Amino acid sequence: MPIYEFACNECSTKRFSELVGVLAQPSPIQCPKCGSQNVRKLVSRFARIRSLDESLENLADMADRVDDKSLKSVRGLMKEVAGGMGDDMSTDDVEEMIEAASELE
Ligand SMILES: [Zn+2]
Repeated sequence: MPIYEFACNECSTKRFSELVGVLAQPSPIQCPKCGSQNVRKLVSRFARIRSLDESLENLADMADRVDDKSLKSVRGLMKEVAGGMGDDMSTDDVEEMIEAASELE
């Protein structure tokens, strides 16, 4: 199961990690400090999304989980996801260049 990082909207807790089930979330994510469920999901660096499909799945998952009040944080998350896709694209570009170079030999 993936580990997601969250930040609390109610107190100063900037970052905490929770193990999140893919299909069902048995209990709501809570801030470990103040117990608030008003938290937002962060895209962690080490759990960076690898493919476009996974990104879209993740966005759909976010859309299911947040209410209208959280739209601002969703936009932030989408930016982070787009940033991650950008990283992956440039990595793919490098891999393609290496592949193309090896084919020349
Ligand atoms: Zn909190």
